[in-house]
Amino acid sequence: MYIYGMSTCPFCDLKNNERNHILQEYEYTVLLMANLRKVPGQLLVIPKRHLERFSELSQNERDEIFDIIANVEKRLINHYKAGYEITQRYKPYLEKDDFAVRHLHFHVLPRQKDDVLEEQRVQEHQLHSSATKEEVEELQSIFKTRSES
Ligand SMILES: [Zn+2]
Repeated sequence: MYIYGMSTCPFCDLKNNERNHILQEYEYTVLLMANLRKVPGQLLVIPKRHLERFSELSQNERDEIFDIIANVEKRLINHYKAGYEITQRYKPYLEKDDFAVRHLHFHVLPRQKDDVLEEQRVQEHQLHSSATKEEVEELQSIFKTRSES
């Protein structure tokens, strides 16, 4: 069990906290029904090890997680007859965000036209404005070398 601050990590303690929400258990990964779900069919794909960043996953863990997400995607599309969204986030966390779990996890959300997440699309559109020359150069400089640190 991993402990940060005064509270334990809910995803390290799934067997006690979320036993009824576990859909499948794999060698390195757990597939969980999201507890607070606004979107029907929302799932969480969670590595068993407590990690915070995607790059900390072993190759075996990455392979298993991507296979699971691909399988989940097919089943959700078949069942809900619409689209989906996959999200994963590492920082910034809000100072007192009770819902931010530091344990790496992937949300897989079935999406329907005009669903409750639709309003976010307005913000997504704002992300697609043209980049400035400086922004383009900054990104290019990040990927100039093949450093993996
Ligand atoms: Zn954890």
